[in-house]
Amino acid sequence: MNIRIGNGYDIHKLVTGRALILGGVKINHELGLLGHSDADVLTHAIMDAMLGALSLGDIGHYFPPTDEKWAGADSLVLLKQVNQLILERGWKVGNIDSVIVAERPKLKPHIKAMRYMLTTTLNLDIDQISVKATTNEQLGPVGREEGIAAYAVALLEKVN
Ligand code: MG
Repeated sequence: MNIRIGNGYDIHKLVTGRALILGGVKINHELGLLGHSDADVLTHAIMDAMLGALSLGDIGHYFPPTDEKWAGADSLVLLKQVNQLILERGWKVGNIDSVIVAERPKLKPHIKAMRYMLTTTLNLDIDQISVKATTNEQLGPVGREEGIAAYAVALLEKVN
């Protein structure tokens, strides 16, 4: 097989006193995501999708939350490392599709910047990464603005 597919999911809690970073973009909001790293939930879901495509485990294995080394880490730096693991094994990203589930703030104005940050980090063309955003229609923890979730799928291609 010359193609592999992987999926990723992540969720982080919304709290006061933390920055909201999605896809490497800092977004103005009164709440931010809590986590050991910068808690960039979108980038985390994308990394898990990439690792999953090659059955390489999950980001918790490579960047354990118990390791002080990753405290406050820029998730784009971690994404670059995940991409390196894939390239070393003779694979590259074909495309990624993702969706952020957040009740607030409105993410549409930031989508382009996220795609730019992600594709620049991965050395891809802008049309190789799709980022979508939806609300949870006020349902469940995401709907109550207790957190933000993200889903991603990644298609990898064998490099010849
Ligand atoms: Mg995470």
